[in-house]
Amino acid sequence: MTQRVFNFSPGPAVLPEPVLAEAQRDLMCLPGVGASVLEISHRSAAFENIIQQAELNLRQLLAIPDDYAVLFLQGGARLVFSMIPLNLGGEGRPVFDFVLTGSWGKYAAQEAAKFGEVRTAWDGKATNYDRLPARGELKFDPRAAFAYYVSNETIQGVQFPGELEGAGNVPVVCDASSDFLSRPVDVRKHGLIYACAQKNAGPAGVTIVVIRKDLLERSCDSLPGYLNFKIHAQEKSLWNTPPTFAVYMVMLVSKWLLTDIGGLTKMDAQNRAKAKLLYDAIDDSGGFYAGHAQKDCRSLMNVTFRLPSDELTKKFVADATDRGLTELKGHRSVGGIRASIYNAMPVEGVEKLRDFMNEFCEKNRKRTS
Ligand code: PMP
Repeated sequence: MTQRVFNFSPGPAVLPEPVLAEAQRDLMCLPGVGASVLEISHRSAAFENIIQQAELNLRQLLAIPDDYAVLFLQGGARLVFSMIPLNLGGEGRPVFDFVLTGSWGKYAAQEAAKFGEVRTAWDGKATNYDRLPARGELKFDPRAAFAYYVSNETIQGVQFPGELEGAGNVPVVCDASSDFLSRPVDVRKHGLIYACAQKNAGPAGVTIVVIRKDLLERSCDSLPGYLNFKIHAQEKSLWNTPPTFAVYMVMLVSKWLLTDIGGLTKMDAQNRAKAKLLYDAIDDSGGFYAGHAQKDCRSLMNVTFRLPSDELTKKFVADATDRGLTELKGHRSVGGIRASIYNAMPVEGVEKLRDFMNEFCEKNRKRTS
């Protein structure tokens, strides 16, 4: 295959074409540097400019206040699952509050349970993680070291419309891995926000952590160095060799968001319009397609739905692939289809998928009825 398809992968995922083109153009020789970004020291002035620019772009996009540090780490979101309780838990046996709206929150809670007592402030298990907590259902513990939520559950396709409320003075921690940079966020309502890059922010290999600086005082000196947020903040993410190419790509993606898109409010509007195309196709299918998430909890990033049978689901995936619409198979725990439509998925791709869904429904509904 020599032509680009419309790739609905949940991650690593589609990247903006202008970003890929710029990276390709400059791969042999970064302008003014005389070497590839892959070949230069992380302590060189050229790379320091890149990492500083990546941070500045993120600060501008998300209006990150000065009393928050921005870290570029390795180990993926999964390593941060452990770093958060290890650093924010402090000494003694801490309590951690979790709001569970899907698989990734559960995995993070399993890690946290190794370092303290996990409480569930709310658990969506009863309805197979198809919704968010209603007002009044959340029960936070004021003694907790943090209150944790996942702003967008990538597998279930359940997304909070805004920040988690109600935790009082307990610092709120957000796993924003699959909706980072897709919309504006009030950073001030969080003690820590983090995201692996490979959905909206860049390639796999770097994880971005935004942490309120006073919380760094909780990191004990006895922690292994790499796991200590305070060390990374003090050393400006250069304590050891960071994933230099991935950081460079985050710099390019964040520049694309600022200059080509015009910021996160505009990105959010585009994302809403794209998601509406698919949810309308689901809702107008007369029950042929059944959305997993309840309507008011639907994700703008991962659109999850089922077809009437496994056979039709397989046929849907195969026929879509033939048309250049790829990676649509849902996660095994939810089944059905998952269309991931992150920032870089062009509207034409979503329109093509919408047209395919309508046609497929038309053809196969007749056959089954
Ligand atoms: N959190 C969320 C919401 C995710 O979607 C993922 C990856 N799909 C992770 C955490 C884990 O990320 P990583 O593979 O980088 O550890």
